[in-house]
Amino acid sequence: MNVVVLREKQPGEARVALMPDSVRKLVASRVAVHVETGAGLGAARTDRDYEEAGARISSDRAGLLGATDILAAVNRPSTVDLERIKSGAVVIGFLRPLDEPAALLPALQKNLTTFAVELIPRITRAQAMDALSSMATVVGYKAVLLGAARIPRMFPLLMTAAGTVPPARVLVLGAGVAGLQAIATARRLGAVVEAYDVRAAAGEQVLSLGGAFLKVDLGGIKTEDAGGYAIELSEEAMNRGRELIAEHARAADVVITAAQVPGKRAPLLLTEEAVRRMKRGSVVIDLSASTGGNCALSEPDKEIESGGVTILAPLNLAATIPVHSSQLYSRNLTAFLGLLIKDGELQIDMQDNVVGPSCITHQGQIVNERVAAMLTASVSQP
Ligand code: NAD
Repeated sequence: MNVVVLREKQPGEARVALMPDSVRKLVASRVAVHVETGAGLGAARTDRDYEEAGARISSDRAGLLGATDILAAVNRPSTVDLERIKSGAVVIGFLRPLDEPAALLPALQKNLTTFAVELIPRITRAQAMDALSSMATVVGYKAVLLGAARIPRMFPLLMTAAGTVPPARVLVLGAGVAGLQAIATARRLGAVVEAYDVRAAAGEQVLSLGGAFLKVDLGGIKTEDAGGYAIELSEEAMNRGRELIAEHARAADVVITAAQVPGKRAPLLLTEEAVRRMKRGSVVIDLSASTGGNCALSEPDKEIESGGVTILAPLNLAATIPVHSSQLYSRNLTAFLGLLIKDGELQIDMQDNVVGPSCITHQGQIVNERVAAMLTASVSQP
């Protein structure tokens, strides 16, 4: 059975789906791993490293696609690649099924079995496969470094002969995996950190990392679903949060926004007015730009300046730390592949409580109900 790793072609992408240490494990489990020339270079891994791990290297991308049983990818393959891939093959990666469901239609036509790592359930059994958490960890960390490098001051409290330098103030909106990592990183650099989230459990986690938690009285409304994810709130509830955020953003040197509601537009938390009231020289890093942004002024992958405040909305921060993001992702994928490959053979068990929920297309059908409903809705729209 052939597992294939291609060079990721998306602009700015430096990650690779499988690192050599994962390739070694797969080869030991009687799987042939084929890697496109230069696939690992962005993550500082050469063709030689892959060969030493037991992979076969090829520069024939079309040939590799035609011989693929499982394509291990970071990003969703292009339409051209999806058309070239062997009919009936398996594709695993960040396929963005809830953001761009129609982009998976070519996979359906090619009878591909597609797995979106975004939909791997966050259950204990699948913890080692949790690619969303892996990437969010890298992104939260890097966001703080970006902010620290951009503000015109230092992060830690310093007592010097020339006087005391007060610590920087960091406000984190959305204390999920990325937000919590941002809090931890900002604290390590010595900043004073405040954070806001609508989930009650987030409050304890913020406190345990040494941050202060901003509490809003939302009138006892439901803020999370059974799975522990935040749900979309009413405008009235959102406004209560926005007022408190604006008040605290005024004093912040860096505001990092990482609030998301799965499958929905990101909640708008930092309004234009709130940015207008922020200090000159302060920086906003909006980590939710791919789903619409948490800051009213952010523009995906652009740098905006407004009244002395810089707003960054990077789309792929994980790719800026390619070695570790590839390493974590590669281990996530290898753990997931362990569910699909038995004795060197592909065995897809759709009843498995990790395999089934993460599958989008299988045997010519859209098997994910949410994606199917979104596609039906888009087709029936005039
Ligand atoms: P996410 O990226 O979907 O959202 C990020 C954060 O935004 C969340 O904390 C969410 O509560 C917050 N948010 C949403 N709407 C908001 C609003 N209007 N105002 C303020 N904040 C808002 O979340 P994630 O980082 O992927 O993780 C979310 C949940 O999943 C958490 O409960 C996390 O602990 C849990 N989780 C569990 C596991 C596991 O058990 N294996 C692994 C990872 C994450």
